[in-house]
Amino acid sequence: MANKLRLEGKVAVITGGASGIGEAAARLFVEHGAHVVIADIQDELALQVVSSIGSDNVCYRRCDVTDEKQVDETVAFAVQQYGTLDIMFSNAGILNPFESILEMDMTVFDRTMAVNTRGAALAVKHAAKVMVANKIRGSIICTASVESILAGAAPLGYIASKHAVLGVVKAAARELGQHGIRVNCISPFGIATPMVCKSFGADAAAIEATICGNANLKGVSLTTMHIAEAALFLASDESAYISAQNLAIDGGLSSI
Ligand code: NAD
Repeated sequence: MANKLRLEGKVAVITGGASGIGEAAARLFVEHGAHVVIADIQDELALQVVSSIGSDNVCYRRCDVTDEKQVDETVAFAVQQYGTLDIMFSNAGILNPFESILEMDMTVFDRTMAVNTRGAALAVKHAAKVMVANKIRGSIICTASVESILAGAAPLGYIASKHAVLGVVKAAARELGQHGIRVNCISPFGIATPMVCKSFGADAAAIEATICGNANLKGVSLTTMHIAEAALFLASDESAYISAQNLAIDGGLSSI
């Protein structure tokens, strides 16, 4: 158990919480005293995560983030289950294999925009509705990517969708500031999560050795827990005056 509980009594929804960054955040948030609803579409995996955390302060709700009704109901479920909503960590995302613009499959483009951008917009909308109605000075965090700042080796749809997530965050931060609600972005570099391994058709070791091994900052491997720690900071009162920021966790890559 952490020495200081940085989210004591707070209630969070984490989309994409069954795996990777979202799973790490669910574990860390619960460790820091939060009540967490994991929202995902991988039922079995999510229930395994809930059971391995082994606390009454975490539960699972199936939620496809592209479906407005399900996002609305998931937020309502969190309020019903734990009494309020202080934190929305909109983190669910997909990354398809690289394809040239010349061969771009617009069905894949549409699906990427639906999950990554529409999903973030819906999470922001429904979290904000509850926060504004109940005068909760909440924190909304969206996982974008270093691809929200630059254009690396990812498909056009992914890069566009993540640039758009930053737009969602800035627009929401601007409007919701009057209610004391903060909205921020987290932009990681590469981690060998299932999404990345599937996209590159390689195992975690190969991804670590190639893409992640090319990081600017040497001597440290980026992990899901590094991203969860950043989300914890932005969710907590320690970042009480930070809003509309894009926190790049990329070893400096996008700034040099
Ligand atoms: P992951 O595959 O481990 O987790 C993604 C989760 O999102 C999965 O549990 C998946 O089931 C869920 N998800 C996908 N579509 C969904 C939908 N329609 N509704 C609800 N849940 C859905 O991958 P990850 O790397 O932890 O990805 C988390 C976020 O981090 C994504 O937004 C991703 O774009 C972003 N990101 C990852 C990296 C990286 O290198 N891993 C880098 C930058 C940004």
